[in-house]
Amino acid sequence: MHQYSSLLQLDQQYIWHPYAVPPHSNAPSDSPIFPVISAKGVRLKLADGRELIDGMSSWWSAIHGYNHPQLNRALTDQLKNMSHVMFGGLTHPPAVQLAQTLVDITPNSLQSVFFSDSGSVAVEVAMKMAIQYWHDKQQTNKQTFLSLRGGYHGDTFGAMSVCDPITGMHSLFNQSLSKQIFIDSPTSNFSEQCNTLDIENLRSALTKHHTQLAAFILEPVVQGAGGMYFYSADFLNKTRELCDEFNVLLIFDEIATGFGRTGKLFACEHANIEPDIMCIGKALTGGYLTLAATLTNNKIAETISNGNPGVFMHGPTFMANPLACAAANASIDILLNSNWQSRISQIESWLIEFLAPCTALAKIKNVRILGAIGVVECHNAVEMKTIQSALVEQGVWLRPFGKLVYLMPPYIISKQDTEQLCKAIFSVLK
Ligand code: PMP
Repeated sequence: MHQYSSLLQLDQQYIWHPYAVPPHSNAPSDSPIFPVISAKGVRLKLADGRELIDGMSSWWSAIHGYNHPQLNRALTDQLKNMSHVMFGGLTHPPAVQLAQTLVDITPNSLQSVFFSDSGSVAVEVAMKMAIQYWHDKQQTNKQTFLSLRGGYHGDTFGAMSVCDPITGMHSLFNQSLSKQIFIDSPTSNFSEQCNTLDIENLRSALTKHHTQLAAFILEPVVQGAGGMYFYSADFLNKTRELCDEFNVLLIFDEIATGFGRTGKLFACEHANIEPDIMCIGKALTGGYLTLAATLTNNKIAETISNGNPGVFMHGPTFMANPLACAAANASIDILLNSNWQSRISQIESWLIEFLAPCTALAKIKNVRILGAIGVVECHNAVEMKTIQSALVEQGVWLRPFGKLVYLMPPYIISKQDTEQLCKAIFSVLK
């Protein structure tokens, strides 16, 4: 208990948390912080000895659970060779192996890989690639992006500019952000045909703005942090056709959806189309280390290499960190050698079964499930301060936001633990 309270006290004195009140603040925290000292499988162990079932996979990343022997081994093996080396002018086996694998498992036309440190930076890189492509095509006016309302792409400046301008959590920075073009997110649900009105909206935005548009950036099928909304995969087919017609590149942000979460290895496979640029991150290393990547097709790579200055203008210090690449190689290996498709559909069926009672509660607007994602949407915003503690009291780790209580557990979760997560949501909302 002593450790628990001293950790908390020092944390509050020194540390900033995501979207939380700063340290030293006299303002009451909008949600409590819980010190965690270890994690194994789907269990987080708090400093006071309590164990929580993890329903978050640490923001979609820890898909194999925590403290996985194969991932641990990959890292200790790599540590003996080299934990880091600069990537300018040098290369190394973990990066080469990972790039080859990513090219193999992502859509066919994506043939090259740019490594970076986080999802937000992978989005920045994608946007810069699109702008540099048009620059090298002598179309320097194409520097604006089309994006969907309700989207979320990260917290850095370029990424913020393509998040939903109102609900995207960044409105206070609006004056400093590049002005982008937004259209409403598709109105038809995941399993439905695309509504023709949505396509007309897209067509009219492209007709009006295509001469300035470098690319259309969107999260395929699942809009994550912007609202956990699942939309028609058919919309993506039409999107590809229209982007080609209007000479606008297509960027898919698969940072949240990649690596099986929606039931396909990548969400764009629900639609059978290929983007020009794709961003991945989060589950790439199985949640072990921070790593992201931006993949692109030969058309873009060749245009940039034949252009002026002939090199792509980006290069982070920790690009392709060998430890992170080794973790990613092991994580993808574990995933592809597991029966992940049937695991995801099993989790989907458990979520359908165990979240069903929530639909009877008056305060709940909608319960929706896709793959290993379960979302309970309330009519009003949940009160974080009370709900977060109440969930911990129930022995589960979930992180609601806005009107949403949602879960995306590690793929190794059992039926019993899934049931306990769903029951905790029901009982807390009740
Ligand atoms: N794109 C999407 C779709 C995301 O969900 C996120 C993170 N929630 C990001 C980009 C940004 O990733 P990171 O937090 O690693 O910068």
